[in-house]
Amino acid sequence: MSLSKKITYTLLPLLIAIIAISFYGQWRYVLPTFHQLEQNDAITNFERVAASLNSDIESLDLLNKDWGAWDETYSFIQGKNPKYITSNLGIESFRNGQFDFLFFFDESHYLIWHGIYDNDSNSFISDDNFTQSVVDRLQIKFTNFTSPSINPQANYKGFLILNQRPIAYSIRPILTSNEKGPSKGLIVRGRYVDTEFVSDIIEETRVRFQIIPVDNKAIPVNDQFMINELNNGTLEVSRYLFSDGTPIMLMKSYFQRDISQQGKVAIQSAIIISALLGILLLIAVWFILKKIVIAPITQLTASATSITYTQNYQQRTHVKSNDEIGKLSEQLNEMLHVIENRELQLEEILSKVKRLSMTDSLTNIANRLKFDSVSDIEWRRMKRERKPMSIIMCDVDFFKQYNDHYGHIKGDESLILVAKALNETLSRPADLVARFGGEEFVLLLPNTDIEGATHIAETALNKILSLKIKHPNSEVCPYLTASFGIASMVPSIESSILQLISDADKALYQAKQKGRNTIEVIASSSSESIKSNA
Ligand code: GH3
Ligand code: MG
Ligand code: MG
Repeated sequence: MSLSKKITYTLLPLLIAIIAISFYGQWRYVLPTFHQLEQNDAITNFERVAASLNSDIESLDLLNKDWGAWDETYSFIQGKNPKYITSNLGIESFRNGQFDFLFFFDESHYLIWHGIYDNDSNSFISDDNFTQSVVDRLQIKFTNFTSPSINPQANYKGFLILNQRPIAYSIRPILTSNEKGPSKGLIVRGRYVDTEFVSDIIEETRVRFQIIPVDNKAIPVNDQFMINELNNGTLEVSRYLFSDGTPIMLMKSYFQRDISQQGKVAIQSAIIISALLGILLLIAVWFILKKIVIAPITQLTASATSITYTQNYQQRTHVKSNDEIGKLSEQLNEMLHVIENRELQLEEILSKVKRLSMTDSLTNIANRLKFDSVSDIEWRRMKRERKPMSIIMCDVDFFKQYNDHYGHIKGDESLILVAKALNETLSRPADLVARFGGEEFVLLLPNTDIEGATHIAETALNKILSLKIKHPNSEVCPYLTASFGIASMVPSIESSILQLISDADKALYQAKQKGRNTIEVIASSSSESIKSNA
């Protein structure tokens, strides 16, 4: 598997895992904080409604206090102010003052005057049942207002359920305008907690809520907030309202779950953004790895492959960086340098070995191997160029006797001198003298005809003679001599170098037959023998 595939297969699951963990983390830990925020916000708004309810009661109570601590009321309750009713207790006072009922009790708690206002008909109504309920339910609280040293601030206010109707009420002592006693009675003022009341508060607080009267018998006695997730869009917050330790109303508010919705959107956006960032990171990492790791390694591999394939150890890798890959490249080049040097040494050794393998160790001229190789090449060259090729075979005369007489060491020395003399007869670069075997030599003469070869043979014969190597046991001469056989031909398809050699050998044989120290020629193309005397 390639490096880039490996990296992709490692990073991709990692990215998916990171996204999954981030999703789980956001859902498990971040979303609940949004829920908590939402609930806190709902409770705050719920408390605003409660505060608004209280402020309604406060203003009801304030109004009641104003009326209670007023000389006009003080004299009215004592029966001294008959005009009070017409001037103050008209329909207008109820409507403008936003209260629904008003009760006046004297100091003996007898009901002196009361009015119950009906909003729908905008008139007073008579409701004996309700009047009785007010008297029954509130009279118990009146005792506190009968003391001669009444506290001018004494008051009762709150909520009550009367005849299944929730009401807000205030009780105040009737005092003089400068809030002095003795209190001459009580003033009770109230308002129905009805749809109008509720819609006033909704308008003010912008919070949807409702008030449900509570049946006293079925009570979960608890003044804690109750939070209920009605559905994905609505949160319900409710709380019991108590009067004298008894729950009387359940107040319920409803809130749009905007915060958790926004939280979900925020979390989704965060996940999408992190996924996109992750993908971006993956692509970036992939590109960086590609640039700093994969590309140089690919380049190194290509260089190594090319070097292995071409076996050209002079090549070098061209990856240059200051990291591990750069060091690897440097090391590879060091290695190539060592191999290159070894190659050069090997080449030198090989050429030396080759040279040695082609040289006769005694005479230091070319050996038979060299002759075979060169003669073959030259033969083909002459064939192409349609030029004559001559071969001279040379054999030292009566050499066995020479050895016998002087010993092999002396014989070797003479052979060295003969080889040198033969070599000196050649002048052209293509000419070659080789030791053919024992005391036999061969001269290869490309682009040389019989005449030229004969001339060289004669020169050679004379050169050997002129060495004046004493040979008392020779039958032809007192000095060392040699016989020569020449063959010459223009190479053709039918002929071969072997044939030319064989012809030269035959000529040499003839020269020996003729008495030695002489030259015999066979012109192979015409099979004609030419004799030349030294
Ligand atoms: P011919 O004139 O017929 O050639 O007589 P020849 O004695 O030269 O020929 P023969 O073939 O009978 O003997 C060749 C001799 O050459 C035998 C051997 O002692 C000698 N010889 C061959 N190679 C070497 C060599 O490398 N060193 C020495 N010292 N003698 C050699
Ligand atoms: Mg011989
Ligand atoms: Mg011989």
